[in-house]
Amino acid sequence: MIDWAYQNVIIRGFESGLKRRKTFPYWRELESSQWRSRRDIESLQVRRLRVLLNYCNTYCRWYRDRWAQHGIDVHGISSLADLRAFPITTRAMMRDNAADIRSSQNGIGFVSKATGGSSGAPLRFLIERDANDRRVAAAFRGYGWAGASPGTRQSHLWGVNLNPMSMRRRMKEHFYARLLYRRDLLNSFQMSDSNAGGYVERLNRFRPKVLVAYANPLFVLARAIDERGISVHRPESIIVGSEKLYEHQRALIERVFGSPVYETYGSREFTLIAAECDHHQGLHVTSENMIVEVVDDQGNAVAPGEEGQILVTDLYNTAMPFVRYAIGDRAVAAAGDCSCGRGLPLLEKIVGRQMDVLRLPDGRNLPGAFFPHLIKDISSVRQFQAVQTQPDRIQLKLVVDESWNADDGAELRRRIINTIGESSQLEIRRVDRIDLTAAGKLRVVVAYPDHRTVRQPRIAG
Ligand SMILES: [Zn+2]
Repeated sequence: MIDWAYQNVIIRGFESGLKRRKTFPYWRELESSQWRSRRDIESLQVRRLRVLLNYCNTYCRWYRDRWAQHGIDVHGISSLADLRAFPITTRAMMRDNAADIRSSQNGIGFVSKATGGSSGAPLRFLIERDANDRRVAAAFRGYGWAGASPGTRQSHLWGVNLNPMSMRRRMKEHFYARLLYRRDLLNSFQMSDSNAGGYVERLNRFRPKVLVAYANPLFVLARAIDERGISVHRPESIIVGSEKLYEHQRALIERVFGSPVYETYGSREFTLIAAECDHHQGLHVTSENMIVEVVDDQGNAVAPGEEGQILVTDLYNTAMPFVRYAIGDRAVAAAGDCSCGRGLPLLEKIVGRQMDVLRLPDGRNLPGAFFPHLIKDISSVRQFQAVQTQPDRIQLKLVVDESWNADDGAELRRRIINTIGESSQLEIRRVDRIDLTAAGKLRVVVAYPDHRTVRQPRIAG
């Protein structure tokens, strides 16, 4: 009842009345469109895609020129497959050509945002206002699948803004988070093995219906609870996002909290891209608002069940359109439909951020994923980061617990040298903590800067 009142009276009044946003009507539309057939949803996408591409051709000089160079007929779109003729847009292109990608239409309303530099340089971009309402609506829906509609009591273990805030700003944030959306914000930046108890106390006091968290700090918290046998409040569901969630992490989190985990996938550029429903057969794509492709390095669609890089086309953001934008993450597209009956296609799994590739002095490329694969078997390592400090020098920083011994170090060294060879120097260094990115994420592999543009080759397992 309280949840209902929050959602339908307070939040709706704020969004629709005070802010004059269309979030609630769009949300209602999405709640209905998700049950339409796959075919219906695709024809909706094609219709909208035609409008978008025409718009870009008229108002965005960079797209117009580029497509003309590629000899593309912008008006010849009759199916989703026709989009594959269009060239891929990279983050560097968006950044370097921002002025000509921005719409030249007069009087267009927008909000301005930026992505952090967790995978290289930051990007500033614009979102048209109406498109922004649509994505907030899509986030309401996707979180709703996990029982976290707006207004439900939630604790967020999340990267909290590090910049010093003015009093006014602090009050505003408090209003939004605590009073309007009933969220208790726990700073994931401060999370560590040693202070986990304080976080548990706060969860036990606030008693959230849903716990929303970054994958890594939540895993650290779950591990500490497990090892110390602390009793913790059981939320109805747990939503994990923003960082790659590994299967072993998911298993531990579900066991320790006794609640189902819902994985979500989103980004600053597009908000919620995909999320799990309660059938847990993959992540449903927000297809009414965007087209998500999984492609190989040449931009051709990969078969369902195979891994590829993700391209996103935002169907509504005209202020600064993203067309076939390589977001830098990899995923596996699913073959079948979800048994829940929603027509929204599934991503079988998010493989994760396209990790840095280390170019070795002998000319080989070492996929960043090598390190997590190797280290997950060594239980005394709590956290790690591999940094290529020089073209021929790799520093592996480790946060370890008391079960760490010299054998672990020797074994780790042996296995790494086995793979990288003798041409790189390897330094294994124990540290107290590893710094997070400005967005609060852990960047596990950092290549020597000149080499960052190299693509990650496919790796097994
Ligand atoms: Zn489903």
